[in-house]
Amino acid sequence: MSFEQLGLSTDLLRAISDQGYTKPTPIQEQAIPVILEGNDVMGGAQTGTGKTASFILPMLRRLETHANSSMSPAKHPIRALILVPTRELAMQVYVSVKTYGKYLTLRSTVIYGGVSIDAQIDTVRSGIEILVATPGRLLDHLQQKTLILSKVEILVLDEADRMLDMGFLPDIKQIIQLLPEQRQNLMFSATFSEEIKKLASKILRKPVLIEVAKQNSVSELITHVVYRVEPLKKQELLIYLIKQQELQQVLVFARTKQGADRLAQQLDRQGISSAAIHGDRNQLQRTQALENFKQGLIRVLVATDVAARGLDIEELTHVINFELPNNPEDYVHRIGRTGRAGTKGFAISLVGREENQLLIGIEKLLKTKVNIEEIKGFESINLQPHVLDKEKPIDAKKLKRNVASAHSKKMNLFVKQDEAVMRFNKEVTHKNTRRLEKTEDPLFTQPYVPKFSDVVLIKQDEMNKKSVHKRLNQQSNRPLPALFIPPVISKQK
Ligand code: AMP
Repeated sequence: MSFEQLGLSTDLLRAISDQGYTKPTPIQEQAIPVILEGNDVMGGAQTGTGKTASFILPMLRRLETHANSSMSPAKHPIRALILVPTRELAMQVYVSVKTYGKYLTLRSTVIYGGVSIDAQIDTVRSGIEILVATPGRLLDHLQQKTLILSKVEILVLDEADRMLDMGFLPDIKQIIQLLPEQRQNLMFSATFSEEIKKLASKILRKPVLIEVAKQNSVSELITHVVYRVEPLKKQELLIYLIKQQELQQVLVFARTKQGADRLAQQLDRQGISSAAIHGDRNQLQRTQALENFKQGLIRVLVATDVAARGLDIEELTHVINFELPNNPEDYVHRIGRTGRAGTKGFAISLVGREENQLLIGIEKLLKTKVNIEEIKGFESINLQPHVLDKEKPIDAKKLKRNVASAHSKKMNLFVKQDEAVMRFNKEVTHKNTRRLEKTEDPLFTQPYVPKFSDVVLIKQDEMNKKSVHKRLNQQSNRPLPALFIPPVISKQK
């Protein structure tokens, strides 16, 4: 099927052709006609499948009739609202709106927290048809009455699963109350949890379900490899792999900000130019690191999970998990950076013995076994049998036996037998009972203030107006994380 057959206008087809796209991806093929007909959609697609264009193209087509060059803001009410979880994704989606809508006179903008609201206010006040926003900052604008949503015809919730993970549900509910009843709703999610289904049932009306990949699965173009390795030898193995395979552009995921910084420095010292990107880096550092990586000035970008969403780096062939994520779904998001839009990708994970349970979790989610390999000189001692079907309790005796036999083979264990058993058991129990990713990165923990509930409170209780205002002001003074990924205006194809 070609783009011409999908019912898009010539202006949109021109913009698509400028991008060098020759044919629609499966999600585009399925979603575009359905959205053009005005249906609600529940899209099950992970990033990298071309899902952004699958909703932006038909959205632009439907809004084309409103395009006008009047200077009056009243002629440019917000017709489409796209809610996304992170600032990076907001920028990414906004750039796509601009790219695909370059021959249309529809106006668009993006709003997100962590930056001054003033410039955003000026833009939205001048009138825009398409608004890309993170929920917190949008509520901020609504509270200040800088924009109204009463003319919205299309609502898009992109990466809805991530928005729920980040605790945006109350914000989303507040925003939806301010939208007109009559509207088209499009919801996209890489995963289908019970919460997502519940949210979908509340928002969507007779939705058409479009799934392009198996539930919670990843692109089949990605080859997954796990290298078993002693934790202390991970770094050495990473350097070996990059050098031996002559990898020129690799995205490496580390679990902590400090870990990412340390790793980038150590790679640099080994002659592999690297930079780290995470929530503690300021705007300039993040921008620069990403740009340098995209332009090939550095070979390795070491990222925490905060960078997993919204990063669109073309032709990225290798993603390496230096550490597995605590949440299996983050594995899907991490490796979604590769194997995009028809290209092949490699997802390599360096897995130490303490990460066995995490690997089992990932395999369960993917419903497949991942190839496990070892490289001579980096072998790990298999302390835990590789289980896919059933999560067996840790067998301490077996563990001891394995450790003992490893010792007898004079393998280089860095802990004593009993300590290893105890530590392993403790770590596994600990890891199973918490979800680190939400609390580790300040980007995900710092609220987008002020909250809309406070706004409602102001209306309800005029008597307490002063104290509420005071509270709002206090909240606004909280430091917000600096994060801004610059728009990729031109795509070289
Ligand atoms: P997304 O899944 O929206 O994050 O898109 C992933 C990548 O695929 C982006 O770099 C898009 O520019 C690219 N892309 C989207 N649609 C197509 C297409 N039909 N052909 C080739 N590349 C595409």
